[in-house]
Amino acid sequence: MHNKSVAELSRELESGKISSVELTQQFLDRLKQEDSKYNSFITVTEEQALADAQAADAQRAAGNATPWTGIPFAHKDIFCTNGVRTTCGSKMLENFVPPYDATVTDNFRKAGAVCLGKTNMDEFAMGSSNESSHFGAVTNPWGLSKGEKRVPGGSSGGSAAAVAARLVPAATATDTGGSIRQPAALCGVTGLKPTYGRVSRYGMIAFASSLDQGGAIARTAEDNALMLNVMAGFDPKDSTSLDRAVPDYTATLNEPLKGLRIGLPKEYFSDQLSPAMEEQIRAAVREYEKLGATVKEVSLPNAKLAIAAYYVIAPAEASANLSRFDGVRYGYRCEDPKDLMDLYTRTRAEGFGTEVKRRILVGTYALSAGYFDAYYLKAQKVRRLIQQDFINAFKEVDVLMSPTTPSPAFALGEKTNDPVTMYLEDIFTIAINLAGVPAMSVPAGFVDGLPVGLQIIGDYFSEARLLNAAHQFQQVTDWHQREPQ
Ligand code: GLN
Repeated sequence: MHNKSVAELSRELESGKISSVELTQQFLDRLKQEDSKYNSFITVTEEQALADAQAADAQRAAGNATPWTGIPFAHKDIFCTNGVRTTCGSKMLENFVPPYDATVTDNFRKAGAVCLGKTNMDEFAMGSSNESSHFGAVTNPWGLSKGEKRVPGGSSGGSAAAVAARLVPAATATDTGGSIRQPAALCGVTGLKPTYGRVSRYGMIAFASSLDQGGAIARTAEDNALMLNVMAGFDPKDSTSLDRAVPDYTATLNEPLKGLRIGLPKEYFSDQLSPAMEEQIRAAVREYEKLGATVKEVSLPNAKLAIAAYYVIAPAEASANLSRFDGVRYGYRCEDPKDLMDLYTRTRAEGFGTEVKRRILVGTYALSAGYFDAYYLKAQKVRRLIQQDFINAFKEVDVLMSPTTPSPAFALGEKTNDPVTMYLEDIFTIAINLAGVPAMSVPAGFVDGLPVGLQIIGDYFSEARLLNAAHQFQQVTDWHQREPQ
């Protein structure tokens, strides 16, 4: 069962061949046996999962099933879960039990899905390797296949590793600068970052609010579509959520791709990209040509400024968002504070890890009087230029294709001492967040036994088209079916 997709498992449950309680128990057993190798979960909610599975079986018996009724899955530990600890990968929230559900959590609950627990992540979603987690690094299942310890990517490294290792068929994730697509690429699974505003941020712990977006990680594009069907939609509790009808994302998966206009941004096929990676990506694009697509080169002239703009804007927003962790209201509190200032400073010094502190310092500096115009305002202007690049490109083509990452999964510890090298990991993903457009990462081959991801970028609200393009590719390739040993 652990090799089946959500769509397949849903059919098994519908046919009555297996119950959700049996299925959930199988996945829980596997999770308990296998996860010591990966550390992909922070919390496993066995009792709750079995109770939910029982309720799901009753719902199905009563004829009230959705495609998700009784399906085991997991949430990234950034989504608040009522009554279940939500840590965001931080010591600051090590013992935080939210009194409410995120909208995304609530949507999956209403659909009848069975959450097995909360997946590991970089602290407050800041990172590209999952190594900044207070709960320890996650190990990439494909690296282990070669007997090596490699990163799963981040910040949704736990979700990507768990799906790759078949511990769950699907997991939620979030993407502020690449945190869905980059780990999906490094773990050989399929991930979707929707248009900014498509999925509610309510109850999703904030990192950089103008960039954060919830999305999907699963093995197939079809399962990504099933996830988005549940996740997407207007939410009055999120002021940046957009009021637009949600299509059935599975309905258009089989549209033919004949005539699809693909643009290859020349800035994303640069010297940063290893030749072996480039060959895999070009081979994937040739598959699309065989399916009837046309290909041309396009330009995103300001793409080279994306990392610099992001690493002003995201830390600036983070420094404001993270000011709420003050030891007074909830979360970690230092022992025996001498006075209020001591409470604030020691709580924050002890509760946050190194990378989070670095972001708060950079962000506070960039926003401070005298520097605001030079850094924050300038970065926002650059952001607008980057957005315009995408708007211009989509006048000429329907989708853009590129590698998701410059290289395959790197070794644990390889980049931890050099933050800038780590930031460059997101060189092909960050501009997409600054523009707010949707994008996917789809398995597209291997280099030295490690997965390579093809990034497919679309215009605003074109998720259905991206899923269609990814699904058609998965009908003629089997990269997404490969299993780490
Ligand atoms: N790696 C990027 C960062 O560290 C993006 C993280 C994310 O998308 N949450 O900020």
